[in-house]
This record gives sequence, structure tokens and C-alpha cells, in this order.
Amino acid sequence: MNYDMGFRFALEKQQWIREHITLLEQKKENKSTINEADEINTRFHKIKIARHPGHNIMSRKVENTITLFFPEITNLELEKNQETIKAFITEVLRKEAKGYLPERIKILSEKYGFKYSKMFVKNLKSRWGSCSAQNNINLNLHLMRLPEHLSDYIILHELCHTIHKNHGPAFHTLLEKLCGNEKILNKELKKYRTQF
Ligand SMILES: [Zn+2]
Repeated sequence: MNYDMGFRFALEKQQWIREHITLLEQKKENKSTINEADEINTRFHKIKIARHPGHNIMSRKVENTITLFFPEITNLELEKNQETIKAFITEVLRKEAKGYLPERIKILSEKYGFKYSKMFVKNLKSRWGSCSAQNNINLNLHLMRLPEHLSDYIILHELCHTIHKNHGPAFHTLLEKLCGNEKILNKELKKYRTQF
């Protein structure tokens, strides 16, 4: 086609072109996308993405299934919609984490005789947890996406840091005494990411 026709075509398809440029940029950054095909399992909930005839984004909870509804025409792959989905799931995880992790770390520390100062639930980008020099422990809210034995493994790892600050042989001996073979657990843990 000639230049005029091409120009008109591009103008008409502006919206589509813009969307796909954004999508290609997202792919380059290797970010995961979440859509209707996905079912996100947290410790206590199943989160689904669906469509509805309305014009707004809304959520509904039936028993332990939470569904996030988008209007039919929404392109879920667009960054801003992915951000909406991820922010929604993050808040579900945060609520679960705040209800579960303080109690869980208390049970584990009492069972094995650890003493820590404070525990905070955080949305950490690249770590599952951390322990400060003052024995304050940060736990990633994404622990709520792990099976309980792996989340316990992370919590025990941080609790062991209240005694050993480094990752020396004494640290690993203590941790393995409490949760078994670290190699096996680490291999299993690799299947999960600390972010979406
Ligand atoms: Zn460590």
C-alpha cells in the first residue's frame, strides 16, 4: 500500500499498536503476567481472575475463593492491569501474613527455645526474610504462597540467626537439626520466587 494508506492504517490501529509496544517492552523485562488462566493459591485462599459485564473492577469472596472481576474489554496483559492484579494479591497475602506469621514464629521459637525482639511482615523484593543485629526479624509476605514446611524452614533460618549471625558451619548444623536436609529444602524453594 502507498504511504497515505499506511499512515491511515497506523492511525486507525493506534490503540492496538500502542498496547503491543507496551507488551513487547514488558516481555523484554521478563515480568510474569497473570490472567484468567491462572489460579493463585495462597495458604488460605484461592484467587481467580474473571470477567463481568460491568464497567468497574470488583472482587467477590465465596468461602475461600476470591475472584477479581474485570470488564470484558479490559486487556489484562497491560502493565497497569497487571499492577492492579498484583497489588490485589499482595494485599490478600499481607492480611494472611499478619494473621498467621506472628503466631507461627511464636510457636516455633517457644518450641526450640529461641528469643527474638520484634517481627515485621514486609514485601521484600529478593529475600524471604532477614534478621538484624538486634534480633528483629523481617518476614516476606510472599511466605504465604509457600507450603507450610518451606515457610517454617525460612522462619527457622531467621531464628537460627538470633544465635549465629553468619552462615558458618555452626549455623547450618543448628538449622539442619531443626528442619532436616537443607539441600532438599533449597531445591524445593527454588520453584518459588519472592515476587510474582
Ligand atoms: Zn541467613
